Amino acid sequence: MSGYAMEVYDKLSKKYPWEKEFLQAAKEVLESLELLLEKEPKYQKHAILERIVEPERVIIFRVPWLDDNGKVQVNIGYRVEFNSAIGPYKGGLRFHPTVNLGVLKFLGFEQIFKNSLTGLPMGGGKGGSDFDPKGKSDNEVMKFCQAFMNELFRHIGPDTDVPAGDIGVGAREIGYMFGQYRKLKNEFTGVLTGKGLNWGGSLIRPEATGYGAVYFAEEMLKTAKKGIDGMAVAISGSGNVSQYAAQKIMQLGGKVMTLSDSNGSVYFKNGLNQEKWEFMMELKNVKRGRIKEMADKFKDVEYHDGKKPWKLGKFDIALPCATQNELDESDAKELVKNGCVCVSEGANMPSTPEAVEVFLANKVLYAPGKAANAGGVATSGLEMSQNSIRLSWTREEVDQKLHNIMINIHKSCYDAAKEYGTPGNYVNGANIAGFKKVADAMIDQGVI
Ligand code: NDP
Repeated sequence: MSGYAMEVYDKLSKKYPWEKEFLQAAKEVLESLELLLEKEPKYQKHAILERIVEPERVIIFRVPWLDDNGKVQVNIGYRVEFNSAIGPYKGGLRFHPTVNLGVLKFLGFEQIFKNSLTGLPMGGGKGGSDFDPKGKSDNEVMKFCQAFMNELFRHIGPDTDVPAGDIGVGAREIGYMFGQYRKLKNEFTGVLTGKGLNWGGSLIRPEATGYGAVYFAEEMLKTAKKGIDGMAVAISGSGNVSQYAAQKIMQLGGKVMTLSDSNGSVYFKNGLNQEKWEFMMELKNVKRGRIKEMADKFKDVEYHDGKKPWKLGKFDIALPCATQNELDESDAKELVKNGCVCVSEGANMPSTPEAVEVFLANKVLYAPGKAANAGGVATSGLEMSQNSIRLSWTREEVDQKLHNIMINIHKSCYDAAKEYGTPGNYVNGANIAGFKKVADAMIDQGVI
């Protein structure tokens, strides 16, 4: 990195040295922008980089709640309202013990460019809590969600900030938070996305992130005259994104070879099939069990305790769909050595910078999360539109719109990478295409 981008990054890293994930995300974006900044001095003149790396607003609050034993528990709640130049803040809520301000700033920052890439009018935000839903009763999860919304409701609204799910926040948690918002505000509005179907939700929203990551992989493969049919695919995680990425891969004739959770990975000797997929859906979404139980149930499933999927076999495609920095340099080298040609990130920033370098150096078709997993927020945007016009579109209509959005995001990234001299580099393409729209809107709107 050099010049203006380097200057801004230097200052940022001295100001927030403890926010490791945020600095990692900011560095990647700033590096990609160098070529654009050289050609377009207006961004420096208007101090766009200095402004875009600082959130417009950060809200931090205490969340006290009563557990099943009547004991008071206290968690920390956050909402990072990063950038609203092109629309209301939009981005998920994460409930996980590792949540802190640096993690949420990284996620909120990525969200700005991701949302811009969708072509829909959505700004960037992210929030959550260090609350761990694992091992909690339904009643405790409800109590926590209500306590969390008791403060958050003041800061959000259908035209202000529209949160959604993320790690640890699925249909159950969105339901409890929506209920509390409705009670506190005495209004029924599309203030959250990922809602249940009979109270304002959109068909295909649960599937959207996973399906979108596979649609993006399909588009990248087309550029190399390849397809998903017959490909062996490694997927990490077994949550919302992984579940539907796996389903779409099966529908397109690919062979899903792995899934995982934070304890270990399962390897499907004969590939995942419908029966095993349904078992996994029940296991993860209803029983809230561990992925290991798949190996207890099926003879042709191996469990690898404490292992990630990447070194368990030979894979043509990798879809990291669990969490940040889950795929490192040695994983990337092993994937490449075993013939992997395509990596599409369902999770946010799952590959370390060193892993990304390995993919790019070896001409792997590599899509960063901000492009490949944008289908989730795009479909949240479609949910917001349906809420505003008080109509629901069919499953086919929403899926078609999602598919077209992913095709368009792919094209924007592909074209921008080519225009700025790095053809095939979807990291540069996504960052440049996502940045331009937001930065130009900031210039148009003056210094605010
Ligand atoms: P879920 O909570 O539904 O699932 C998360 C999965 O990842 C679980 O299998 C979980 O295992 C695993 N996991 C979480 N933390 C770790 C860790 N530290 N190490 C190993 N495995 C881990 O979340 P989602 O599927 O919604 O989200 C997954 C990723 O996709 C995240 O990066 C999220 O930001 C991103 N994303 C999600 C979108 C959405 O629409 N949901 C949209 C765009 C991006 P365990 O159960 O053991 O914790």
